[in-house]
Amino acid sequence: MTAVDDARTLLTRMTDAPLAGVWSAPGRANLIGEHTDYNEGFVFPFAIAQRTAAAVAVRSDDVIRVRSTFADDTVEVSLADLDARIAAGGLDWAGYPLGVAWALLREAPDAAPRGVDLALASEVPVGAGLSSSAAIEGAVASALNDVWNAGLDKVALARVGRIAENDAVGAPTGIMDQMASMLGVADAATFLDCRTLETRPVALGFAEAGLSILVIDTLVEHAHSTGGYRERREACERGAAAFDVPALRDVTVDDLPRAAEMLDDVTFRRVRHIVTENQRVLDTVAALDADGPSAIGDLLVASHASMRDDFEISVPELDLAVETTLGAGALGARMTGGGFGGAAIALIPTGLIPAATEAVRAAFAASGFRAPNIFTVTPSEGARRDA
Ligand code: ADP
Ligand code: MG
Repeated sequence: MTAVDDARTLLTRMTDAPLAGVWSAPGRANLIGEHTDYNEGFVFPFAIAQRTAAAVAVRSDDVIRVRSTFADDTVEVSLADLDARIAAGGLDWAGYPLGVAWALLREAPDAAPRGVDLALASEVPVGAGLSSSAAIEGAVASALNDVWNAGLDKVALARVGRIAENDAVGAPTGIMDQMASMLGVADAATFLDCRTLETRPVALGFAEAGLSILVIDTLVEHAHSTGGYRERREACERGAAAFDVPALRDVTVDDLPRAAEMLDDVTFRRVRHIVTENQRVLDTVAALDADGPSAIGDLLVASHASMRDDFEISVPELDLAVETTLGAGALGARMTGGGFGGAAIALIPTGLIPAATEAVRAAFAASGFRAPNIFTVTPSEGARRDA
């Protein structure tokens, strides 16, 4: 059963009204470009095959009722009360779908809102670094955009998802996840300029080259909101201020010798990660265009080293996952996500996956680390209407 089937089934348990449609949006993985988003730089994520689906039936009143296979409760709110309920907070998971409804109405004043029953089901694991939040936002935004004739394009719907997450749920995230989920293309990644929001799908050619992306989720908890993350952001702000530019996006590799003179050692290394990481995203896109996927391995490895040594956001489990997959024949590997835990990815010949998986399991056991969760992700199509 897919998420689309499950959502449809759940809807029939909510209402006898006819199905208006089913929409879905995927989770995402970031190939390269870490901590560059809030520096107005470049990221290069791809949508994955696992999706979240929203099945919708129209109601005759002005109530939005949401239910999910993820939770037992059904939450309902009238359109007239939506502002107040969002402002009051405490909606838990329902803050995502209801926040999207609220943000959509804010972004699309010409929309024709009406009451809906909305049933959600998902294949995207929660909290595994694959952005189940962007998937639920993308599915609900796509559904309500059509049902309410809001007329927003995919970039505008990504913005709706971000507004929901930032202002309704209260999670201070960038727009990368939503853009990746909305705009994904099969066997491609989305180059995103986080300043201009310009995007370009770039063919990855993994399938043709016999390559896969293996994810090693270390299951080590990452704490985004703690001091580590804030310290990195503050260091980036100090670096930009020293150069008198709005963001580190405006500092280039050629500026680094000057940065070394102006900044203390720690701030300099934080800045060097961002500046070189932005360049690595550009180099990855250029290498894919010119030479295909087997040319990007070293860039992934350099990205990991930069996060480990300069940005200092890796942990021993992530380093071990990277080293072990490289030793097992991966072309490149790096930690992905905010750091201090979470997952690593490895670009690896598909035939080597079983041996690499065994090697990682053995290495983790030998180090006394918790057994990681290991699986593949496939660059896939973004948000769409399924039925
Ligand atoms: P992730 O890294 O998976 O995006 P987040 O903490 O950003 O982790 O988002 C996870 C939260 O999103 C869940 O705790 C839940 O509140 C909500 N969520 C995700 N998927 C669903 C779903 N299918 N149904 C209901 N809520 C969901
Ligand atoms: Mg999330």
